[in-house]
Amino acid sequence: MSEKIKAGVFTDVGNIEILELEKPKPRGNEILVKIKTCAICTWEQRVFQGINKVKFPFIGGHETVGVIEELGEDLKDSKWKVGDKVALGLMLACGDCYYCRKGQHGSCETFNHENKLRGFPFRGMGGFCQYQLVVPENLFKLKEDLPCEVGAFAEPLSCVIHSIEMANIEIGNDVAIIGAGMMGLLHIILAKRQGARVLVFEPNEERLKLAKKLGADAVINPSIDNPVSKIKALTEGRGADVIFNTTAISKIAEQTTEMVAKLGKIIFYSSYHPDIPISISPNWLHKELVSLIGTANSNMKDFEKSCKLLSDRIIDPSPFISDVVPFEDIEKALRRSIEPGTFRVIIKF
Ligand SMILES: [Zn+2]
Ligand SMILES: [Zn+2]
Repeated sequence: MSEKIKAGVFTDVGNIEILELEKPKPRGNEILVKIKTCAICTWEQRVFQGINKVKFPFIGGHETVGVIEELGEDLKDSKWKVGDKVALGLMLACGDCYYCRKGQHGSCETFNHENKLRGFPFRGMGGFCQYQLVVPENLFKLKEDLPCEVGAFAEPLSCVIHSIEMANIEIGNDVAIIGAGMMGLLHIILAKRQGARVLVFEPNEERLKLAKKLGADAVINPSIDNPVSKIKALTEGRGADVIFNTTAISKIAEQTTEMVAKLGKIIFYSSYHPDIPISISPNWLHKELVSLIGTANSNMKDFEKSCKLLSDRIIDPSPFISDVVPFEDIEKALRRSIEPGTFRVIIKF
């Protein structure tokens, strides 16, 4: 007798339905994880709003925490045990392409948000479901006493760790962080821990206050102060040694070139919507020795570090939990997540 389980499935733009599916059975090296929480990322919000185009039906959700329910027969003597608390990650990296083999799972050649889910007749990332079927490479151990709501930040924090490490911050660097949404705020926390002086640009006064509380050394409202003259004034005319742009606005990406110091680094963290090209002087880049760096996603090592920072309570993401909503109200949760001013809305199973 097969058992039925439930999944929140995007069936169209603006439409998410709870559908019944067969509960999958782990075989070989597969692991069945009972999902406890899944946070709603901007990516899923954009699917719901029709900005990110996907083929429906589609199961979203990639910021997932669960507990191991059943192990495939090959894993009986492995380090994984029934009852282990785990974050799920890198679900759609193949593990076998050129980049995966170089440890760059976030740049997997076959990575696609619409890869088919293991054990289910649907595509997607699978977090909005009571169960997920995975292989050991997708699991990252969390401490037993870590609340599942906190563990749900393992994926977003791993992406910020990746970004911060791309920048190779030196102690005492002037680091500008543009945008104090959740990703910008996580950059503040980590950059401070790297010994930087952190300067934050954000037009929302509430968020500036939070930035300050989380350790920002100076907060600047770009709708009041010109960001270029302000950063120059704060750095004896040099500009920032490192700039992270966490906004989706091309114009701001372009402006960072006027805000960076000689030998500085500019990191484009976010995706751009719409993706309007910007102009850069190659001679300026050449003479100023500036590095322009793109970053996206994260790798296995970033996930490991993220889970450690959360488990050891070094990083506390609780200021970013805007709401915890039961799975049955997933549509309400999605609508709540796109309201202005919300950080993460977490679905609880
Ligand atoms: Zn995410
Ligand atoms: Zn790959």
